[in-house]
Amino acid sequence: MKSHARVVVIGGGVVGVSTAYHLTKKGWSDVVLLERTELTAGSTWHAAGLLPLFNMSYAVGQIHKYSVDLYKRLEAETGQNVSFHVTGNLRLATNKERMDEYLKYCGTANTIGVPYEIITPKQVKELWPLSDTDGLVGALYHPDDGHIAPVDVTNAMAIGARNGGAEINRHTEVLSIEQQKNGEWLVRTNKGDITAEHVVSCTGNYARQTLSMVGLDIPVIPVEHQYIVTDEVPELIERKKAGLPEMAVLRESDASYYLREERQGYILGPYEKGAPACFVDGVPDTFGQDLFPGDLERLMPHVEAAIKRVPTFADAGIKDIVNGPIAYTPDGSPMIGPAWGLKNFWINEGHSFGVTAAGGSGWQLAEWITEGEPGIDMMDVDPRRFGAYATKPYTKIKNEECYEHVFVIHYPDEERGAGRPLKMSPCHDRMAARGAVFGQRYGWERPNWFAPKGVEPKDQWSFRRSTYFEHVGNEVINTRTNAGLIDITSFSKFEVTGPGAEAYLDRLVCRKLPKGIGRINLSHALNKRGGIRSEFTIMRDGPEAFYLVSSGAAERFDHDYLLKHLPDDGSVRLDNVTTAHGVLVLAGPKSRDILRKITDADLSNNGFKWLTGQHITVGLAPCRALRVNFVGDLGWELHHPIEYQNHIYDAIVEAGEEFGLGMCGMRAMDSLRMEKNYRMWGQDLTREYSVFEAGLERFVHLDKGDFIGRDALIRQKEEGVPQSFVCLEVDGITNADPLGNEPLYDTSGNIVGRATAGAYGHWVKKSLAQGYIKAGMEAIGTRLEIEILGTRYPATVIEESVFDPENERLRA
Ligand SMILES: Cc1cc2nc3c(=O)[nH]c(=O)nc-3n(C[C@H](O)[C@H](O)[C@H](O)COP(=O)(O)OP(=O)(O)OC[C@H]3O[C@@H](n4cnc5c(N)ncnc54)[C@H](O)[C@@H]3O)c2cc1C
Repeated sequence: MKSHARVVVIGGGVVGVSTAYHLTKKGWSDVVLLERTELTAGSTWHAAGLLPLFNMSYAVGQIHKYSVDLYKRLEAETGQNVSFHVTGNLRLATNKERMDEYLKYCGTANTIGVPYEIITPKQVKELWPLSDTDGLVGALYHPDDGHIAPVDVTNAMAIGARNGGAEINRHTEVLSIEQQKNGEWLVRTNKGDITAEHVVSCTGNYARQTLSMVGLDIPVIPVEHQYIVTDEVPELIERKKAGLPEMAVLRESDASYYLREERQGYILGPYEKGAPACFVDGVPDTFGQDLFPGDLERLMPHVEAAIKRVPTFADAGIKDIVNGPIAYTPDGSPMIGPAWGLKNFWINEGHSFGVTAAGGSGWQLAEWITEGEPGIDMMDVDPRRFGAYATKPYTKIKNEECYEHVFVIHYPDEERGAGRPLKMSPCHDRMAARGAVFGQRYGWERPNWFAPKGVEPKDQWSFRRSTYFEHVGNEVINTRTNAGLIDITSFSKFEVTGPGAEAYLDRLVCRKLPKGIGRINLSHALNKRGGIRSEFTIMRDGPEAFYLVSSGAAERFDHDYLLKHLPDDGSVRLDNVTTAHGVLVLAGPKSRDILRKITDADLSNNGFKWLTGQHITVGLAPCRALRVNFVGDLGWELHHPIEYQNHIYDAIVEAGEEFGLGMCGMRAMDSLRMEKNYRMWGQDLTREYSVFEAGLERFVHLDKGDFIGRDALIRQKEEGVPQSFVCLEVDGITNADPLGNEPLYDTSGNIVGRATAGAYGHWVKKSLAQGYIKAGMEAIGTRLEIEILGTRYPATVIEESVFDPENERLRA
């Protein structure tokens, strides 16, 4: 074994091998892979080998698509057959809601170029003659995917990696990992030590053990997953004899199982209720290349459902039950990217569809390591999307819930229940008493909407306008007419202070920092390619002091970035004050009248200008008041030490009574911000789009001196900005507004872009969308079409900010 490598990859499952393979493809040949036993000895060897292209996530969809394309090419490159059976893949629907889910997915599939067909029960019968199509309303068919031999695909990539210069060491167990003073990693194994510039952890079920070696608590805990392998079935033998092709992989989502042919028999894999998490405290030494005993009782409801759908399954004897550990995360997506708080330590863990995702995850991670950035927006899979709230017991129950939900309909407004409530604002119960229906983000409970008296405070999830539509509308109208109170305690908040603070922050964002004390700027941190990495509201709190606010979901993501860029001369101090401060937003035309009653601060337009902040007293409590908000109206964000929240809340509510103050939830805020075309970080603003493409040129100062991403922006300016941000009004909608991830077409039917967000603007009474299209098509009045749940609607490019385009309300 070498004693030094540029990159050490730990783990020789399909994911680790793919990572090593792709690093060599990027020209980094000095790669060493360490595997404690044999390649594929973890979860890979017993995987069923299915490669489902279906995924609701834009990032994961691209990752899966890449894998499927790669696996088709591997044999030609490496000489290793990978047994890719391109049988196609059928997902059945027995109800309209399920069909809506497929139709929503189709929009994403169109934007990333995955071929699919929506077919009728009659076509299902043609594709799957042994099925009973009773009760079906239709199906989604992917002609391009199928199944593969996981061991063979791993071996093929291992050949490719070795050909590219990688060294693969089996029976080499990593025992400890430490970072040395010079930044290099010292990896100790049972076969000796190796130092490396970068380390990548791809250890599957061992993720918690590996990451604990570097002090990280990673929310990856496996869940038991089992499938049944049957004896041969006469009808399948007959089909084979008759020279008929293997039938498509069949998924009956509403009965939560997959079924495919295997050697003239079947494999049936259900996602059962009550499947237990395993290895919560690590994989025991006694568990080698092992399986758990099968649990037939848990399988039975799915066996019965399969017999109904595929009657020949009834006569198939059970040959084997394979019950193995499958790594999970609380949201079911893998963790691919940099480790938080550590330089040059990378994670490719938490894969529950690891055979499907291995190719794509290796591709993107290798790009990230070698070029400093991934090519696609990886936020859905970024390891830093979870925070400290994802403790071991939380992870256990969330992962079990996630497993159970694999086939549950993925509504866009779904809010899952396990592990809740966890993080609560002090005013949580007060909001609950007013009918709040909560959602959860980054562990925080946040009111999504408020059920008025007599209405049950309960969500009815849907792909279309749901029962809460009307109530959300009333919150919007009341906020625009009177005022609304919003709890966004979940915002991430940081204090940056010290003599080096200004220079440090200035390099991180593309806009000049606010000059005067109390001034506020909306600023963007870019990646090297000019893509938008983070968005910060920055208030100058003093000559050497700044207060930064960013998305609640970005706490660890942003903190990690700020931390990794700190100068090492001690001139800057960074404090993450997220949980120390609560935030109540008071917005709407009467917000000044309300606030005036409970503060002696000068709230006049001259005394407290738009885009400024002041330390004021509200009631008896100290507050940092920022005259900005995400709803686009007169208003203040009141940031306060968290212990004063209920005092401030009560004061506002009491003062607001005579002015018609109402509560305003996240869904109303979404409608309000769409009326202003405010871009949402993580949704409209991602690293896939440059700040110019996002139409935010007014927030860029190329002349201010160097900042990260500046060179790329200058190049883009010279070469031409490829895409433009557009605001759209959609016509003909009756019950399903755009939500984001819808393809945009020109009038000849060509895909020319994608919507990143959408909502009904309850005040302006229009269905609105926004997103990106090819440059040159952004002229106001351009006619496009947007595909919503399988139907194309006319959409017209409109001026930004359909509500209050001159910002008169904000400046009032
Ligand atoms: C029953 C079942 C069916 C499945 N079916 C499918 C399917 O059809 N399609 C699909 O996409 N996915 C499927 N999966 C999931 C799939 O098996 C996994 O997602 C995938 O194998 C994960 O690959 P990996 O490389 O991340 O982990 P693993 O294959 O577990 O590899 C991790 C490797 O790291 C090594 N390692 C750990 N610690 C150390 C250390 N300290 N030093 C050195 N080496 C170490 C381990 O020995 C192991 O070989 C299935 C899983 C199960 C249980």
